[in-house]
Amino acid sequence: MQILVTNDDGILAPGLTALAQAMVKLGEVTVLAPEKNWSISGHVKTLHKPLRLQKVSLTNDLLAYASDGSPSDCVALALLGALETKFDLVISGVNPNANIGHDVTYSGTVTAAMEACIARLPAVAFSLNSPENFQGELNYETAALVARRIVSKVIDHGLPEGVLLNVNIPYGSLDQVKGYKVTRQGLRIYRDALDKRYDPRGKPYYWIGGKPPIGVAAEGTDYGVLSEGYVSITPLQLDLTAFTALKEIEKWDLTD
Ligand code: MN
Repeated sequence: MQILVTNDDGILAPGLTALAQAMVKLGEVTVLAPEKNWSISGHVKTLHKPLRLQKVSLTNDLLAYASDGSPSDCVALALLGALETKFDLVISGVNPNANIGHDVTYSGTVTAAMEACIARLPAVAFSLNSPENFQGELNYETAALVARRIVSKVIDHGLPEGVLLNVNIPYGSLDQVKGYKVTRQGLRIYRDALDKRYDPRGKPYYWIGGKPPIGVAAEGTDYGVLSEGYVSITPLQLDLTAFTALKEIEKWDLTD
């Protein structure tokens, strides 16, 4: 079992090493992650410039590389053969913050797994629901144990083609985790606000600021079960067709 581990927070992120080390018991692990933080970068494919890889030293037991591309570029590089390994599974994370609801379209953690899905490989994205404004070093021990358990099930059962798993893990010790629930994608409410400022030459520039997003704790959703203390496992697919709207739009007379 050849396992590729990547993330969107960059090669030096502690969640990446914790995840890679948790995967070592399940197969041969190779890390290929971006050299810098690509959080909230969405699904990116770099076609307008070359990409480079460099071998890096993370810990003694990990084979690791960094690239100047995005998280999804890292997956594409590895799956297209840049490392001369044929991978069976792609694991992304552990992101320090939850990826729920609409976050999945922004998330580099999740879009790295989507890239694997396009290449028809099973993939899982892991994120930690850490407390807001957490200061200091996050503890990834629980997330690593949860990730190992879920990935071992993915190895046993496989995943339906075109499906990836988006996993969010409550923050705390393992005995505080209430269990595992399979969920649907929930809803985020973003509270973005424009912050207009002026540079020293009097020209305006903008920050997208505002308060952090909140989640709607609806039953059976990612955020709903996460807020109750469960690990949330959401199967995702890249077919975004709104099937409920299909019939409605078909009624439009587009010939008049
Ligand atoms: Mn991130």
